[in-house]
Amino acid sequence: MSRTKEGHIWTAQIGSKTGMETIGAIIPPQSYPHGHSEVFDAIVIGAGYAGLVATRDLTIQGHSTLLIEARDRIGGRTYNGIVDGFNYEMGGTWVHWSMPHFYREMSFYNMQADFIVSQTPGGKHDYFTLNSESGTTTMSHAEEAKLFGKVWGLFCDVDGVQATAAMPYPFDSRQNRETTAYLDKVSCQQRLDQIRERLTHEEMAMLKAILLQMGGGPLDRMGLLDAIRWWALGNWTGTGLNDIGLRYRLKDGQSSFARKIFDHSKATSKLSYAFSTPVQQVTEKGGMVTVTSRTGQTFKCRKLICTVPLNVLASINFTPPLPSLKIMASQEGSTNHCNKVHFDVAGADLISWSAMSNPGRGVICALSDNLTPAGDTHIVTFGPSPSLKNGIRLQDGIQPIKGSLEHILPEGQVIKKIVYHDWNTDEFAKGTWCYLPPKFVESYLDALRKPHGNISFASADWSDGWRGWIDGAIQEGTQAAKSVVEELRASKEKPRSHL
Ligand SMILES: Cc1cc2nc3c(=O)[nH]c(=O)nc-3n(C[C@H](O)[C@H](O)[C@H](O)COP(=O)(O)OP(=O)(O)OC[C@H]3O[C@@H](n4cnc5c(N)ncnc54)[C@H](O)[C@@H]3O)c2cc1C
Repeated sequence: MSRTKEGHIWTAQIGSKTGMETIGAIIPPQSYPHGHSEVFDAIVIGAGYAGLVATRDLTIQGHSTLLIEARDRIGGRTYNGIVDGFNYEMGGTWVHWSMPHFYREMSFYNMQADFIVSQTPGGKHDYFTLNSESGTTTMSHAEEAKLFGKVWGLFCDVDGVQATAAMPYPFDSRQNRETTAYLDKVSCQQRLDQIRERLTHEEMAMLKAILLQMGGGPLDRMGLLDAIRWWALGNWTGTGLNDIGLRYRLKDGQSSFARKIFDHSKATSKLSYAFSTPVQQVTEKGGMVTVTSRTGQTFKCRKLICTVPLNVLASINFTPPLPSLKIMASQEGSTNHCNKVHFDVAGADLISWSAMSNPGRGVICALSDNLTPAGDTHIVTFGPSPSLKNGIRLQDGIQPIKGSLEHILPEGQVIKKIVYHDWNTDEFAKGTWCYLPPKFVESYLDALRKPHGNISFASADWSDGWRGWIDGAIQEGTQAAKSVVEELRASKEKPRSHL
């Protein structure tokens, strides 16, 4: 099995180490079947889902394409490391057939039977723990779902009809123009203040934890619009979003799915690729685009698709320069700087346990998810941005990370393993999934989607629908490749001048 340099593992016996086995690592890192000095029909920067799908769609239609990626692996903000026989999803994880672009790919690659459920009922600690300033409460998962549905539903009921009027078309922002403009101006903190008097102390603790888990915080930097869109995507019901976005994952991991898309491109013989090759400069002159890597390698193409994340876009130099709105959007960036950390806890007692903690100490949400081959309970946790007073910096060592879960674990539990990727200090991500700040959509979304000469831009971070999710990345990659294929075709069909 190939290895990536990324990801961190800690065990009581060995201590900390970096790097892990993953099917997503690409060896050898570079391949140019037709030489690297050719002028490619297209270059795609970034081998996350947007880039992989765009590359696949270009190559299967016969266009010579170079995929350039800074990392040593495919998948971008998704990959699964295999540690002691267990798949740890380091980034994007939960997927569902209600995510249309994603599911189309799953059925295309005959992977419909590849889902597994995260939650397992019937364990010794089969309950939910809610930690708030006033103490710790436990309740059944049915009570948890009822409370969750109540507070989340109250928060999202911005129009008295569960946001069905405010957000009738979550997949087409143009059809919600008026309400989008209103919701875009409001922060989650402002919405919370509107309903605060209708919430008990416990309900408020849970609602804040839900919001911080969604957008990483701070709440006054989280736009209400994304929350309402997620609610609408969950079919405007209290627990719909959880059923779709927190229940099913892939049995062989995200990298197995990404690999199908990559291998499909490879089989066309139209694909060249350069991994471990960060792009530094993109220059367009006379209709030709030149891409320069940090080590000075140059590559030429007719059309470029750039799929780097929103928070990273401003770190690449473009000549002519990108329009100022694109740069400002990237500098303002996604609000979400949450931490995701996996813990293995000795034995199977916690297999049915989940928890929320607000304000919490590093972890605000914990969710048990299957047993490891060693018979230990695997728990996935999320914590808010390290910039918040209840957030932690993963680079500060293992003790604060251990402490972040220990304070909400039932008594007598032993943490045996910790696995994580620090997406916030990762220069090619600079954060986790996209959650937009207030006033961002109206100011920047149209500008982010516009091409710049022969360069187009595709990312989950500015998709419609499941923006910030895997589905959004696939949607964007598909659309960008379709436009580029049409443009390449049109340019080849143009009659030659006889002058
Ligand atoms: C912790 C975490 C949990 C998540 N959970 C879920 C979930 O449960 N379900 C879900 O659907 N989604 C989830 N997401 C979101 C989802 O993973 C992303 O929205 C999606 O994968 C983004 O895809 P993308 O192709 O747009 O961007 P990316 O995957 O970020 O791809 C962009 C690529 O560009 C590369 N790049 C950046 N800079 C350069 C450069 N200078 N030169 C060359 N290459 C460069 C990057 O290395 C990267 O590979 C999660 C994300 C994270 C981080």
